[in-house]
Amino acid sequence: MEMTEQILAKIRDNMRHAKRGAFYKKYFESIEPEDIKTLEDFQQIPFTEKEDLRDAYPMGLCAVSEDEIVRIHSSSGTTGTPVIIPYTSKDVEDWAIMFKRCYETAGVTRSDRVHITPGYGLWTAGIGFQAGAELLGAMTIPMGPGNTDKQITMMIDMKSTVLCATSSYALLLAEKITQRGVLDKIRLRRSLIGSERWGEKMRRRIASELGVKLYDIYGLTEIYGPGIGISCDGECGMHMWTDYLYYEIINPKTGRPAPQGEVGEIVITTLAKEGAPLMRYRTHDLTRELSGECSCGLPYPRIDTLIGRSDDMVKVKGTMIYPSRADEILALVDGVSSEYQIMIDHMNGKDIVTIFFETAIAGENDRGTLERAVKESFKDKIGLTIMAKAVGMGDLPRSEKKSTRIFDNRY
Ligand code: ZN
Repeated sequence: MEMTEQILAKIRDNMRHAKRGAFYKKYFESIEPEDIKTLEDFQQIPFTEKEDLRDAYPMGLCAVSEDEIVRIHSSSGTTGTPVIIPYTSKDVEDWAIMFKRCYETAGVTRSDRVHITPGYGLWTAGIGFQAGAELLGAMTIPMGPGNTDKQITMMIDMKSTVLCATSSYALLLAEKITQRGVLDKIRLRRSLIGSERWGEKMRRRIASELGVKLYDIYGLTEIYGPGIGISCDGECGMHMWTDYLYYEIINPKTGRPAPQGEVGEIVITTLAKEGAPLMRYRTHDLTRELSGECSCGLPYPRIDTLIGRSDDMVKVKGTMIYPSRADEILALVDGVSSEYQIMIDHMNGKDIVTIFFETAIAGENDRGTLERAVKESFKDKIGLTIMAKAVGMGDLPRSEKKSTRIFDNRY
């Protein structure tokens, strides 16, 4: 996004404030806020990685007196020490204001009934959806994840109109609702889907099976949580609430700014956070900046729907594979459903790629034809030789959290 004198001043304030915490005091020992006079100066500031935040455990990020902290959240990651993010009451309020704005952008009003399935707890998801909906004045149904049968019963009895979920859980609910034959009792009209990269086929299935309009909501625990951006009726990327944050799109390999409109990693600097301000935080989410004005009229800049994570990109036989590319290739083959998994193994000195995909087609011959079509499609589009294996609908695992598509079993 564009840099202005006003944003530079906010960034200097943010850095000054961040250095009150033990972590950034040390991390920025040799940098003074006054040194950041231009965009180029700002781009010289070292990135903050999630790994770095682990060193701040437990309260090293805290930039205010610990008495002012009203809540903590935590993100776990795959290994070791969690990251603790402390929030002041203003941080909690600001987050709810942003989230309310998300609901409003999605056309949700105080007459709506918001069914919340993301988890409550140290993770930021559930409580963020909750606080934003309460601030809006809508009725909330704080379900949390799990117990799909009870979810559907509550959805019918409470006449839920808005579903908040991850894409994989929304799909699971849609499938269960169809199985139970209760779609005519469901009152859902909109669904806010957590910021997971998900393909067009999956989107169409959820929208048509539930009969809802879908919105992508963006966010991460380190930067408030979900709700820092959302897609709109313009259906062209996600608006980012840039009064609270500054973002950059960088080339994940070089760390330099990605050329306008090209895919890169989104890096975020907070502009108003008190408890745990962050500078140039690497999200590892891949997207690109969208230019021009949005047809919905919102003045906030937009990033594209997430393409994947820079750490999900896998190199096999010299070819980069990432989930959105696999989505696109599979979408070209008729009869292949939205759900698939890619297994990468190393056998007899060679990398073997196997794609398991779901299909409603049952006959063995027809499945064989479909497998050959998938195989040819990958060869044709990215020059990669794979093995393809058709499985039945619902055979691949569904997750209540984010679904994993690529399993690299080589190491
Ligand atoms: Zn818009």
